[in-house]
Amino acid sequence: MSSVRHYCGLFAVAGHPDAAELAYFGLYAQQHRGQESAGICSADGRRIIRHGGMGLVTDAISHADLVRLRNPMAIGHVRYSTTGSCSETNAQPLLVEGAAGQIAIAHNGNLVNAAATRKEYEHNGHIFLTTSDTEIVLHMLANQRYREQADPLGAVLRHLVGSYCLLVMYPDRIEAVRDPSGNRPLCLGQVGGAYCVASETCALDMVGAKYVRDVEPGEIVTLTGREIRARHFAEPTAQAQCVFELIYFADPSSRIFGQSVHMVRKAFGRALARESPVEADVVVAVPNSARCAALGYHEESGIPIGRGFTTNHYVGRSFIQPTQAIRDMTVRLKLNPIRAVVEGQRLIVVEDSVVRGTTTRGKVQSLRDAGAREVHLRVASPPIRHPCYYGIDFPRREELIANQRSVADIRGFLGVDSLAYLPLESMLACVNPHKQPYCEACFSGNYPIPIDGDFHKEIFERNQLTFFDARGPLAKSAASDAPVDANNR
Ligand code: SF4
Repeated sequence: MSSVRHYCGLFAVAGHPDAAELAYFGLYAQQHRGQESAGICSADGRRIIRHGGMGLVTDAISHADLVRLRNPMAIGHVRYSTTGSCSETNAQPLLVEGAAGQIAIAHNGNLVNAAATRKEYEHNGHIFLTTSDTEIVLHMLANQRYREQADPLGAVLRHLVGSYCLLVMYPDRIEAVRDPSGNRPLCLGQVGGAYCVASETCALDMVGAKYVRDVEPGEIVTLTGREIRARHFAEPTAQAQCVFELIYFADPSSRIFGQSVHMVRKAFGRALARESPVEADVVVAVPNSARCAALGYHEESGIPIGRGFTTNHYVGRSFIQPTQAIRDMTVRLKLNPIRAVVEGQRLIVVEDSVVRGTTTRGKVQSLRDAGAREVHLRVASPPIRHPCYYGIDFPRREELIANQRSVADIRGFLGVDSLAYLPLESMLACVNPHKQPYCEACFSGNYPIPIDGDFHKEIFERNQLTFFDARGPLAKSAASDAPVDANNR
């Protein structure tokens, strides 16, 4: 699957002489979560300084930048623009200075009431410097109404609706926040006596940190020097951990929501093999995110596993390309079938998910061209029928193939001999052995966090998309060819 943008990755550390370097490597380990921009803010107890730029971590931050950023506290961010445009102005962390002093912020998620709150602030004379939904949090923190509260940050957070993990930096401390629904992952680690926070545990591994625990839903963890303090700003609500993190987004080496991503994906593959067996010669994974599920399918079925494709690591990500024709060509450049493995064989091809279907169809065609005798597609998640409003950049509803076609039609469109998805109940049984509530709205249409109608109407119209809420289409604006969505930052 490659038609969906990831969102953002966060890293913070306090009380370490190499804080900026640790942030750099923590972001590097989470590059899969955002490739449009990267940035780091660091602080020495009195002042915050910032550096950010477009592109990968290695493009945006140089060795000289890290030398300038050398301070004992740092926060970092890798980003995809999902609300707000893709521009350097929107690169995070954002840093401002006002009546409340200096504040920097980095955000993973999507604030569904940001547009309405922004309108209110603009009406009262506030000037916004970015188009990012995150900036509203800075304006609220600077607002006297919140500054006068015993816990200004907690008071601001209680006003926010949506999905958010935040790093809020003051000159003398970092506050790490996870929203009450726990929609995005955030974990706490310890490295050389200092505490650090990351979206995924793979970042802790990268910097040699020991995993301590997850930041809890509705919790603020304050990092100062080598100490932490924790408080809850809200009771955890109906929890809504994003199941797509486990299906596709998170790195297989990470543990998120208390589970190994690799093991959960293998369980998906095992369940698929039990529920949708087929006679075949070899199991192949569509690189890279379906490898764990393919391994599970192979282990459960006993059918040999083979490497069906080579991956060209030097090709840009296919979804960045503006037209379908260019995207198709990029797919072919990126994945080359290994003829010796696939020729004359009956293949079981395991995919993590199917979004538009065009990318998968290209892969199937390339396997046919390389001589595959049969292609049986097994998808390690249910059909995606609904948009995401919580920080994942799915295409608009009419571009989601499972929203428009039956499974039989999709089989024909993809050109496969058989097609089976992992049913929702089976998927949830794999991710949910302890009955923790997950968000699965993109499969079921049951949205666990309220959706702000005005917010979505505005951003959907701005992007010339069709506006839906959980019940269906509400308004349609002019059609656009742009393969963009309007969900998030
Ligand atoms: S709608 Fe899907 S992608 Fe979005 S938060 Fe829920 S599970 Fe994750």
